[in-house]
Amino acid sequence: MKVLVLNSGSSSIKYQFIETSTYSVLAKGQVERIGMDDAILTHVREDGDTVKISGEILDHNIAIEYVIAILLSKNHGVIKDKSEIEAVGHRVVHGGETFSDSVLITDEVIEKIRENIELAPLHNPHNLRGILACKRLLPDTPQVAVFDTAFHQKMPEYAFIYGLPYELYKKYKIRRYGFHGTSHRYVSKRASEILGLPIEQLRIITAHLGNGCSMSAVKFGVSIDTTMGFTPLEGLLMGTRSGDLDPAVILYIMSKEGLTMSEINALLNKHSGLLGISGVSSDMREIISEMKNGNQRAKLAFEVFCYRIKKYIGAYAAAMGGVDAIVFTAGIGENSPDVRKKVCEGLEFLGIKIDDEKNDSPEKEKIITTDDSKVKVLVIPTNEELVIALDTAEIVSKSKVMAEK
Ligand code: AMP
Repeated sequence: MKVLVLNSGSSSIKYQFIETSTYSVLAKGQVERIGMDDAILTHVREDGDTVKISGEILDHNIAIEYVIAILLSKNHGVIKDKSEIEAVGHRVVHGGETFSDSVLITDEVIEKIRENIELAPLHNPHNLRGILACKRLLPDTPQVAVFDTAFHQKMPEYAFIYGLPYELYKKYKIRRYGFHGTSHRYVSKRASEILGLPIEQLRIITAHLGNGCSMSAVKFGVSIDTTMGFTPLEGLLMGTRSGDLDPAVILYIMSKEGLTMSEINALLNKHSGLLGISGVSSDMREIISEMKNGNQRAKLAFEVFCYRIKKYIGAYAAAMGGVDAIVFTAGIGENSPDVRKKVCEGLEFLGIKIDDEKNDSPEKEKIITTDDSKVKVLVIPTNEELVIALDTAEIVSKSKVMAEK
């Protein structure tokens, strides 16, 4: 099935057009600077043909019109008729407690996504804009929503309830949700395939380390805990986000510095993390290069980053009663042997033996532990778009079978 995968943000839309039977990306690209008169569409076809178009793209409707037009374009396109877009799969950040799986989009689903806007005001409204634009532009094409939170919805209550008055959970749904679920699901399943063992027998710790970072304890195929919480701010140290923090620190800073709600929000989300500690950059490549040049604060940022991951490995091994595999993924996880080595240092007691040569090798997907290491450590490039496309194809095929019955 040919599926258009859309990730609609506030001022950008990323897309991939995927043939799910062969896993091929027929074309991909993005529209940036939506809302401006100098927006840019960058489109890359499977054969490498690349085109950039600049113009006034004032909203998501127009942006998706451009995407459909370029897919149809005689010179740069990959289809001849709109109907060749057999389905659209949308990344939706927050499914709240409503969605524990991907779903076919109906008016009722749209309403529920709208209800969850309160939980993800920075993301869900834009995801919804993408959905509504497709409904208008491709009215006969089935659409599916794939939620970042869904994979974590099977967490036990004791893992998702905060130590706050329970009424607040009932009243405002304040609890741990977790994010990056599509990535954690994909890499844990891929790890079981690589290891040749059923996922139902494996306790896997997945570490998605990109600009945003989160870990998940995936026991027998189910996420039983994850580091991000009510929002993506909790847990690991990230590029610009603080991660775990004594909540009293927030009140203290607000009173000492006289900060408003929006200022403290910016401090925690945009000026903390690797950037805040190092004072140099939020980019791990620069942190490592500065550290190697003797910059002490970059070294400290690197150490805090790795130490926190190590701590959660211990915590999640305890939560699952052991660990069989650890997976590193996303920008840092996939590309930084330094981070992987530092995180796993001193974990020999858990049965982890890193093979430095394998860790440094250029292969993208690999096992980086020695053959006799009890716990396998893997590097697996994440592929959230493929998961969205496959979920979409499966749900749309099933709904067609049901309709025919
Ligand atoms: P993502 O959000 O998955 O695109 O990941 C972005 C992060 O990956 C940034 O912090 C980059 O610094 C980091 N990254 C990309 N390549 C490398 C690399 N070769 N070494 C270390 N970090 C990297």
